Amino acid sequence: MPSQHDDCLFCSIVREGTYVRKEKGFVAINDINPQAPVHVLVIPERHVDSFREIGEFPAREAKRMLEFVADTAREVGLTDYRVQVNVGPSAGQTIFHLHWHILGEGPKRDDLPAHAETAVVEL
Ligand code: AMP
Ligand code: ZN
Repeated sequence: MPSQHDDCLFCSIVREGTYVRKEKGFVAINDINPQAPVHVLVIPERHVDSFREIGEFPAREAKRMLEFVADTAREVGLTDYRVQVNVGPSAGQTIFHLHWHILGEGPKRDDLPAHAETAVVEL
């Protein structure tokens, strides 16, 4: 496993947690304090303190991480969403292990199964 820090919350979550999705090198979890109807965090196993250190990722791993973000958004039912990375305390970073926020309103109505459609009432 790539570099880990003993006293890092996200390093421990990567080792043992409840995941929305997991692939070699990456996990996705639901944010404990969601800021949108869907709020998922993508966390790489490799510990770097912030996005500033993105250069420490081998190129292939960095590409796979971006693909993991996109694949996770799709798998939780989002077509339109925001991807956010807070870098540094004054930009809102509170956990110093790189992570990507995926924020969305939820699956499009058209994507819901037919039985979930709301009846249209004509007045
Ligand atoms: P940031 O403020 O960008 O560093 O993001 C840290 C995020 O981690 C915040 O949105 C928190 O709500 C979230 N968070 C903190 N602790 C946990 C946890 N144990 N499980 C899931 N999400 C967490
Ligand atoms: Zn860590």
